[in-house]
Amino acid sequence: MTTRSETRTTLDHLLTEIEYRNPAQPEFHQAAHEVLETLAPVVAARPEYAEPGLIERLVEPERQVLFRVPWQDDKGRVHVNRGFRVEFNSALGPYKGGLRFHPSVNLGVIKFLGFEQIFKNALTGLGIGGGKGGSDFDPHGRSDAEVMRFCQSFMTELHRHIGEHTDVPAGDIGVGGREIGYLFGQYRRITNRWEAGVLTGKGQGWGGSLIRPEATGYGNVLFAAAMLRERGEDLEGQTAVVSGSGNVAIYTIEKLAALGANAVTCSDSSGYVVDEKGVDVELLKQVKEVERGRVDTYAERRGSSARFVPGGSVWDVPADLALPSATQNELDVNAAATLVRNGVKAVSEGANMPATPEAVHLLQQAGVAFGPGKAANAGGVAVSALEMAQNHARTSWTAAKVEEELADIMNNIHTTCHETAERYDAPGDYVTGANIAGFERVADAMLAQGVI
Ligand code: GLU
Repeated sequence: MTTRSETRTTLDHLLTEIEYRNPAQPEFHQAAHEVLETLAPVVAARPEYAEPGLIERLVEPERQVLFRVPWQDDKGRVHVNRGFRVEFNSALGPYKGGLRFHPSVNLGVIKFLGFEQIFKNALTGLGIGGGKGGSDFDPHGRSDAEVMRFCQSFMTELHRHIGEHTDVPAGDIGVGGREIGYLFGQYRRITNRWEAGVLTGKGQGWGGSLIRPEATGYGNVLFAAAMLRERGEDLEGQTAVVSGSGNVAIYTIEKLAALGANAVTCSDSSGYVVDEKGVDVELLKQVKEVERGRVDTYAERRGSSARFVPGGSVWDVPADLALPSATQNELDVNAAATLVRNGVKAVSEGANMPATPEAVHLLQQAGVAFGPGKAANAGGVAVSALEMAQNHARTSWTAAKVEEELADIMNNIHTTCHETAERYDAPGDYVTGANIAGFERVADAMLAQGVI
């Protein structure tokens, strides 16, 4: 039998190989490190996982699609963006994962997101593989007509690669209900098929699921509540610092308030808002979702309880809980040290990989409950899978039913991560628990399905 240290050496070699074979993809290296570093105990304990080529296959996407996306702005000028779809792993079901439209998107970013998605989707237990896509297109400041033309051009290529049984995209940063509408319209036009299950996050009147917009934020709050429960605490009366002001942040703030906690911040790339009375989520929705404005406008309209801090770090604001809900690597080791100094009890990731590895390490060393994104923010993709189920059955569930399912799924994910961590001598370490539990499900399916 191989020992843990021999296994660790093999995994270290593999990580070096990953860096060599995927140059200039730091986010993908970071995500691969984060997972592989925690797998030694399970690979050492279960010889079938040490089978040559298993982990090598897991870190290599099944298919990667890169394409040109030309489109015309309102003045008739031609722009050329890059489109991506990384179909990472389909052992458990069709590739599933969002599309991100943001200028920072490149292949390495999409690969990190797709890799995370494999384990996240496995943790939901819902039969969905992992994939991710997007473009370096920046929707900020673009008219609806420009966004529509971009989405149509993007889908004109993407449609060949997706389908309800093949690959099912959804939203992510920069892709919400408006974009999903334009993408679905073009897919339907080109294919001449009403194929509801090809995209999730659709509008409520045409195949979308109730609670899908809320699901990632709501789910993260439920995960944080489960971590607190484990320590004999609850959300009642706790203050929370939330970053971001998009879909995830908004519904995180809403659910915190519903469960008796108080979110006192939100942010965007221009700075952050501190609101002593707690963020007024209806005003935030109006500013961000209806007017597509910035958070300083929220502060202006809110009155004396709120102030806007240009630049700066939202993590300087003292709170019991931190729910990073903006983007990758937004919470670094200095921010983590500040949070610990201010007495934070739990950090739960609403965004994908918002805490750097050094920050995660520091928080865990300090005894802070840390919920990694692949567990804590799985509620969004889980309700996407429920949307697929409703589409398949040509039915739609009530909001109460979807919420009940979401709560069950989040509690199950919490229990699975918690128990798996204990089983592998890492009690309270949700990172190890999530990585190993997700890995076991995917690896078992890959082994059963042979070398493909
Ligand atoms: N973009 C979300 C995520 O990171 C949701 C993906 C989906 O619903 O397919 O999990």
